[in-house]
Amino acid sequence: MSSREMFIIAKDYMPGGVDSPVRAYEPYPFFVEKGYGCKIYDVDGNEYIDHCLAYGPLVLGHANEKITHKISHQLKLGTAYGAPTEAEVKLAKEVVSRVPCAEMVRFCNSGTEATMSAIRLARGFTGKNKIIKFEGTYHGAHDYVLVKSGSAGACLPDSLGIPEETTKNTLSCPFNDEDALTKLISDNDDIAAVIIEPVMGNIGCVVPDEGFLEFVREITESKDIILIFDEVITGFRLARGGAQEYFDIKPDLVTFGKILGGGFPVGAVAGRKDIMKLMAPEGKIYQAGTFNGNPITINAGLVTLEQLDHQFYNQLNKSGQYIRDSIRDIVDDLDLNIQAVGIGSMFQIYFTDKEVHNYADSQTCDTKRFLTYFREMLNNEIFIPPSQYECNFVSIKHTEDDLDKTADAIENSLRVAFDISPEEDDD
Ligand SMILES: *Cc1c(COP(=O)(O)O)cnc(C)c1O
Repeated sequence: MSSREMFIIAKDYMPGGVDSPVRAYEPYPFFVEKGYGCKIYDVDGNEYIDHCLAYGPLVLGHANEKITHKISHQLKLGTAYGAPTEAEVKLAKEVVSRVPCAEMVRFCNSGTEATMSAIRLARGFTGKNKIIKFEGTYHGAHDYVLVKSGSAGACLPDSLGIPEETTKNTLSCPFNDEDALTKLISDNDDIAAVIIEPVMGNIGCVVPDEGFLEFVREITESKDIILIFDEVITGFRLARGGAQEYFDIKPDLVTFGKILGGGFPVGAVAGRKDIMKLMAPEGKIYQAGTFNGNPITINAGLVTLEQLDHQFYNQLNKSGQYIRDSIRDIVDDLDLNIQAVGIGSMFQIYFTDKEVHNYADSQTCDTKRFLTYFREMLNNEIFIPPSQYECNFVSIKHTEDDLDKTADAIENSLRVAFDISPEEDDD
């Protein structure tokens, strides 16, 4: 069956034909047959260089051989125990050894669960109720944080079905705005936590302004507010110890997901021991899960982190730099006034003439034109997320040759999106 045929059936049985909103796009999304390395293959016989990479987990590319080998073995030993394993302890130790703020870890099943649990921990620890998040950051699909969130709701700023009583405790602040944060904190004395994506990866890619994260750390520390870094994207991506190592800022708690599970569902909360110890069964803050610390996920995580050494990050970030430089050259050559952005292995092009430092800036983008660009990228056999407000990634499997192909496709697609005729005297 073709993708088109499958999507028609899917829409009858599943809301929107998909299991997560961003996956649906007009006229229909391709259905996947398999992924290998930096490539993804659809059921219609097409092959794409993948820069969506499952929205973040696949720094090692698809079907990493070491993970496949390890998990094939683990499958024969059972897939869920409801009792502890040595592998969990090993992975917890590995996370603690890498991540500056991590002294203890709780594994769960998704980034959503991780931020929900981290917020509950911060509230339980401080005895306070309010939290501050930043406009455009995304912390998963639960009630506390679906306020002016980024991508998951395909950019819905909010959702039906969330009681006002829940969101009245969630205050929202523009990213990169020290004055707004200062005012919000001084106007409210009941703030348990500030939760932040150190690099906003769910409205494209917004890097913090120089000094902003330092400021957030200082003001939260001085007011006894728990600082939560949501490193579900940046964790084990920007550096061995994530964004907190990269920017040299130590939060109180951190949440992980995506990369940590080696391609399997995962989440984790880590942080200061005095806070983590309040988690049940040691303390009175409840957190639990049938599949927490699942042996498949945990072993995949272990085999993943084993492969992510300094050398790995040098190479991964070099590839990111390579594609960003290529894009900047293309944008310059075509004389386009749009924004080529990114950091480490993350990149995006904002279809706006305005520099993007926060959510409001991002809303100036021409999303319709972006979709033309996206479709043209597919025609050029490159898969990027079908949204202006997602981030593109490179994996360790993308070679310079792959990235050159991506760059060529970007040039072709920008020409189409901006109606620039193909160069005649192409050298
Ligand atoms: C993806 C993401 C989440 C949610 O993780 P899920 O595993 O999809 O629940 C939370 N925070 C950030 C920053 C994310 O990018």
